[in-house]
Amino acid sequence: MRYIEPHAHMVSRTTDDYLAMATAGCQAVCEPAFWAGFDRGSVDGFHDYFRQLTEYEPKRAAKFGLAHYCWLCLNPKEAEDLKLAEEVIAIIPEFLGRPTVLGIGEIGLNKNSRNELAVFEKHVDLAARHNQLILIHTPHLEDKLKGTKLIVDSLKADGRVAPGRVIIDHVEEHTIQLVLDGGFWEGMTLYPESKCTAARAADMVEMYGGERLWMNSACDWGVSVPLAVPRAALEMRLRGHAPDAVENLVYRNPLRFLSQSNHFKCD
Ligand SMILES: [Zn+2]
Repeated sequence: MRYIEPHAHMVSRTTDDYLAMATAGCQAVCEPAFWAGFDRGSVDGFHDYFRQLTEYEPKRAAKFGLAHYCWLCLNPKEAEDLKLAEEVIAIIPEFLGRPTVLGIGEIGLNKNSRNELAVFEKHVDLAARHNQLILIHTPHLEDKLKGTKLIVDSLKADGRVAPGRVIIDHVEEHTIQLVLDGGFWEGMTLYPESKCTAARAADMVEMYGGERLWMNSACDWGVSVPLAVPRAALEMRLRGHAPDAVENLVYRNPLRFLSQSNHFKCD
């Protein structure tokens, strides 16, 4: 089976994970910029991180035959320091022309604070001015519905970004319809503990279809499973979904969305 891992924080994973993903049929892995587990103290910390994502990690992935792409931003968890956020947003354009950069992400909201929303809107402005794809993180648990509404309303009010060039990630049963009604793509994040299990993901596909959907593992430094996408594909096969329909979800859909960036190439 072929699949694309469209959202994985590989800088926090081992080479064993790359080997397992390549063995399971992964064709390409895409890494959104993320929080490091602690707040970075300066714009130089972000500059080094963006170099790691665009220079070093593609070489590490290539040792396992995997293409590695990335998304750039300052994560909402670090958005409370508005001065730092502005400094980081100012250095992103120097990286956007690099051949493996797909767009701006994962931006979004974490606690739905006023500063987070201001920094989200600055990132959307950056993406609009540079014609970039956008990958959006939505908050957890009780903050998710409110945060998703704030994000959708903000994007509609801006009006410069085509919804088909935006993917809103970490959707759950109560936010899918909101995302689809806005014309956006939806991402389902498969986690062993929080977020969405393979069984819940399959249930949601059966309820809402999978026309503008990708699944991802988001594997990071926390408890997470780098093979979550092929495991969800197995869950769907065991439920009787046709192989071609499963490949649409885990391979052709991310290929279709990501190919809107002319940097994305997947044989
Ligand atoms: Zn993530």
